[in-house]
Formats: sequence, structure tokens, C-alpha cells
Amino acid sequence: MKSGCPPVLVLAFLLACLPFQALADPRLDALLAAYPDKLASYTDSELIWRDGTHMPLGSAHSDRPFAELLDRADIRDQFVIPYPLASAPFRAPTADEDPGRIRNDTFFLKMYGDCRRGEVKANLRPIPWLPNHGGGTVRATAINGVADQLEKVSRDLDTIPAELLRYLVPTSGIYNCRPIAQTNRLSMHAFGAAIDINARFGNYWLWSKRPNGTIVWQNQIPQRIVEIFERHGFIWGGRWYHFDSLHFEYRPELITLARQGWPRD
Ligand SMILES: [Zn+2]
Repeated sequence: MKSGCPPVLVLAFLLACLPFQALADPRLDALLAAYPDKLASYTDSELIWRDGTHMPLGSAHSDRPFAELLDRADIRDQFVIPYPLASAPFRAPTADEDPGRIRNDTFFLKMYGDCRRGEVKANLRPIPWLPNHGGGTVRATAINGVADQLEKVSRDLDTIPAELLRYLVPTSGIYNCRPIAQTNRLSMHAFGAAIDINARFGNYWLWSKRPNGTIVWQNQIPQRIVEIFERHGFIWGGRWYHFDSLHFEYRPELITLARQGWPRD
């Protein structure tokens, strides 16, 4: 025999491998598709990066207190709250319904770099923002095609009715190496993967919090604008209980899953 193993040995080899093969997981498939520059594959317990790094997926802790989830999220926790893509008109989110706000810091730091060490700036690419309406230039990370997708958003927004332009020009910025207000966690702005539109029309949960702690959802951003961002992979902070209605961030995995109807009953 020139090469290969006797069939029975091949079969034994395959059976030996089976326990280590990951079962297909739609959430992780969506994650790989969202970040093709960086992610290669996954097993049942680990995410495997293109540079060979293995990162633990952890578990989904839907029973963990919300504040703890925000501070100590595993990668699987990022999918605990589904993104409600289709809702017209908008609805007020239920308590702590913050799809996308639960982020594993280690995951995003490896993905986009640490701005505190100057690792993000080098990847920022300039984009003309609504060039037909004097939006100037904004800069977003080129990693995973974020800048390309934001440029598509800009092109689509450049053709919307004139009365909607005031929400979009001027923008209130993309890259900003800072933590989220009142936390030590980095914001998606620190990765050059989030944009704030015109702050004049923004509503933010911390500003709207009542003395008794109640948060009353508020929003001025028209649905048409939100739909254009979502079409190109950006989730909207207006869909959060802890809302930030001028904020959009690149999280196409959550939108893909919403389109697939995840989670299914
Ligand atoms: Zn923001």
C-alpha cells in the first residue's frame, strides 16, 4: 500500500476526535462572520483567533446580576440579550434590556487594540461623512471592514430627506480613548468602532434618571436613520434600557442573529 491508513484505523481516529469537535453554534458562527480579519474558528470551549490565540468562551450567565454581567462578561455572555431588530414603532426596552452592552473587554481589546498604548489610532481610516451635506471627515477603524461599512452608512444617509439631516450633521465623534461614563470599562469609541450623531438630539439614561432610580426611556432619533445604520451592521444605543440614543456601534453579529430570529423558541 502506497499511503493512508487501513479503514478501521481511520474510523478509530475520527471517533477519537469527535468529542473535541464543536457543535455548530449560530451565535459563534455569527461572531466569526462578523470579524473575519481576526477570528478563525471555535471549539466547545474556546474561540480561536487567526494568530493562533485561544480565548475561553466561558458560559452564558443569564442568572447573574446585571451589574456583574457588565463588569465581568464572558464571550458567551455577549449573546444573553437578543437585539430587537424589527420593532416599528420603537418600543421602550424592559428593565436591564441592553442588547450589546454586555461586552468582554479582553475580546474587544484583542480585536481592535488598546488605545491607551496607541494601538488603535494606526488603524483609523478617514471617511467623508455625508459629503453632499458638509459633514466633514470622520475616522473609524479599518479592522473587520468597520470603516467600509460606516462609509456605506454615510452614502445611504446622504440621500435621506433634508429634514433628517440635522440629526446627523455635525456628528459628535467616533474615536475617543476613554472609559464609559462612571465605569472603568472602555467604550466602543476607544476602538474607533462607534459613532455618536448630533448630540443636540441625543437622550442619555444618566441624564434622565429620576431621584428614585427609575429610568424613563426617551428618544428623538427617527426610525429611518436607525434602520440605515442597522442595515450595515451598527446597533443602536436607543434600543437599550440604559439608553444612549445618539450612539451606534459596530456589532454585526447581533444583527445577523436578529435577522435569523435568534433566540428561537
Ligand atoms: Zn457613543
